[in-house]
Amino acid sequence: MAKTALITGITGQDGAYLAQLLLSKGYTVHGLARRSSTAEVNTARLKWLGIENDVRIVDGDLTDLSGLARAMRDIRPDEVYNLAAQSFVKSSWQQPILTGNVTGIGVTNVLEALRLEIPEARFYQASSSEMYGLIQEPMQSETTPFHPRSPYAVAKAYGHWITVNYRESFGLHASSGILFNHESPLRGIEFVTRKVTDAVARIKRGLARELRLGNIDAKRDWGHARDYVRAMWLMLQQDQPDDYVVATGRTTTVRDMCRIAFEHVGLKMDDHLVIDPDLFRPAEVEILLGNPAKAKAKLGWEATISLEEMIREMMDADLARHTAARR
Ligand code: NDP
Ligand code: GDP
Repeated sequence: MAKTALITGITGQDGAYLAQLLLSKGYTVHGLARRSSTAEVNTARLKWLGIENDVRIVDGDLTDLSGLARAMRDIRPDEVYNLAAQSFVKSSWQQPILTGNVTGIGVTNVLEALRLEIPEARFYQASSSEMYGLIQEPMQSETTPFHPRSPYAVAKAYGHWITVNYRESFGLHASSGILFNHESPLRGIEFVTRKVTDAVARIKRGLARELRLGNIDAKRDWGHARDYVRAMWLMLQQDQPDDYVVATGRTTTVRDMCRIAFEHVGLKMDDHLVIDPDLFRPAEVEILLGNPAKAKAKLGWEATISLEEMIREMMDADLARHTAARR
């Protein structure tokens, strides 16, 4: 029988790609979204993928338990994917309490609504490699201790442990995916990869001259969102719930990622890159490198898109956007 899924955060990057994947598998897809006075902002990513008319949007907010419970009762999904969050690390120092309420306590709201209304449903929590923060092992796996370095990461650590706790306390089929950074043409423009590809496209089109960045020595294990949403789905198809690291196993500096973008359009990075001290963070995560061995062994999952391929795809999408914007 065709399955039904509820995705919180469907208007975000991962929500859009996950919705596309589930639709391709014959799911009925419902998405929880915050009401906005400008409806087209909410559906921009779904539209980009051509699926805005195929998903059913339900109003809701992660801080509102009654609305979440109503959504679970009305929709009765087989699978709930909790992707909603205040997801930008830098903003979490400006809005630490909101970040705690949404990215942390919001997870408990979703779990409570699920436990009370549809305890048989399967649950996925979008956990983050940012929880490793000040890394305790050179390659981070499911057993590496956390040392979060931002209000965002602290909230995510809470969200991870409450997911584990509800699994152990109530026997829920609740899994936590510890996903390393993943990007795409649909990545928010405030994140460094998309900030770079957007700026390089504007420079190439003559709309800007420089790109301002902060700590370009930071290293990340970057994968593609399209690969990573497949891992989320696979976790909920297992007989037993569990926690999995999802990563590529390769780490790259912001500097080298940036160079790939400039070289793709035939520009020299050093002619345009400006280091701006205001863009450094109060506490930095210097390096992340994930070990995806468990996901490979148990889920049969592997990243298929390289950093170079992904940056080229993002660059081409931003060049096209800026060409269209000039018409
Ligand atoms: P985005 O920032 O693109 O999407 C976040 C989503 O959460 C948006 O749909 C947003 O809605 C929604 N949201 C924010 N606040 C609320 C709220 N109070 N109530 C309901 N919805 C809300 O994130 P990504 O798609 O990149 O990431 C998905 C999840 O995975 C997030 O939880 C993120 O923290 C986590 N993650 C992401 C990683 C990555 O590299 N992308 C790595 C590891 C974890 P709106 O459109 O209205 O703002
Ligand atoms: P994060 O890993 O979730 O914080 O993802 P980001 O894409 O926001 O940041 C990745 C890394 O890039 C961090 O170490 C940042 O400090 C670094 N970085 C350097 N300059 C910038 C910048 O201008 N914007 C962002 N977002 N990150 C930057």
